[in-house]
Amino acid sequence: MYPSEFEYFAPRTIDEAIALLTRYGDEAKVLAGGQSLVPMMKLRIAGPRYLVDINRIEGLADLRREGDRLVIGALCRHADIGASRLVRDVLPILTDAASLTADIPVRNRGTVAGSIAHADPAGDWPAVLAALDTDVTVAGPAGSRTASLAEFIVDAYTTQLEPGEIVVGLSVGLPPKPGGGAYVKFEKRAGDFAVASVGVQVHMNGTECRQVAISLGALGPTAIRAAHAEQALQGRHASDDLLADAERLVREAAQPFADTRGSVEYKRHLAGVLFRRALTAAVDRANGREVATIHA
Ligand SMILES: Cc1cc2nc3c(=O)[nH]c(=O)nc-3n(C[C@H](O)[C@H](O)[C@H](O)COP(=O)(O)OP(=O)(O)OC[C@H]3O[C@@H](n4cnc5c(N)ncnc54)[C@H](O)[C@@H]3O)c2cc1C
Repeated sequence: MYPSEFEYFAPRTIDEAIALLTRYGDEAKVLAGGQSLVPMMKLRIAGPRYLVDINRIEGLADLRREGDRLVIGALCRHADIGASRLVRDVLPILTDAASLTADIPVRNRGTVAGSIAHADPAGDWPAVLAALDTDVTVAGPAGSRTASLAEFIVDAYTTQLEPGEIVVGLSVGLPPKPGGGAYVKFEKRAGDFAVASVGVQVHMNGTECRQVAISLGALGPTAIRAAHAEQALQGRHASDDLLADAERLVREAAQPFADTRGSVEYKRHLAGVLFRRALTAAVDRANGREVATIHA
């Protein structure tokens, strides 16, 4: 199907883009990688009258370290993260997410910020970034503001973005050392959205788990932090009983819904299995072992 008719703009500056978005309000949409928006327009699930393409705006493709944070500009593509040596060194959990997202053509066009703005409950970026200290910076007619990712995504496909606003970038705190993280996703077919996914980021003190963050993707309307499982593990040394308890708490934290990808029981079970795999890989990485991305 063809999309309904729209007017296309390709501004060169953020101010110009904000002015266009403000002028056209609810009838306008930002176009970044187009990998979610264009399919929705073709299916006529979305029908914006005005498209504001941000791809010609300079300075939005950043991927750099700034002090103790990683800065990801609005035009940073999934593939940029996947290819980055810096990211592999400081946040390999993001390298996992990049190589598990969609397929190569989608990764070459789709942006991380676009995924956050889209807020798909099964999206890999909302899921993995929820395990980290992630901020979202927005520019709009009233200036710039920064919100935590947890504040920014308010529900499935719903964010704090107001008409006229653009996500200009994300920033992710670099976790304390020795630490490690891993993101594991289960998909029905290679390149598909997750049936379930789990991200784990740990900070270790020898064999003691000093801090841990556990995020669940495709297991609720937004990414979920398994807070009770985190509390159970913090300050403790691994044992079979402790890990079994943490796995149970992860399953309980999941709020999946039944769909063509699986039943509630099946997805809860997957949450536990993926948690174990992600935790093992995260601890191995914290101990300096090379661990390849897990294709579950
Ligand atoms: C075949 C296929 C498979 C896929 N598989 C996966 C997968 O496995 N995992 C996964 O996570 N995703 C998957 N996706 C989605 C893909 O990752 C998209 O790239 C991503 O969800 C959106 O990023 P985008 O840059 O393409 O955004 P766009 O499609 O350009 O925009 C998406 C939405 O976000 C808004 N938006 C985009 N950028 C901004 C911004 N900077 N500021 C404000 N609003 C903005 C747009 O207005 C629109 O509403 C898949 C897509 C396809 C086509």
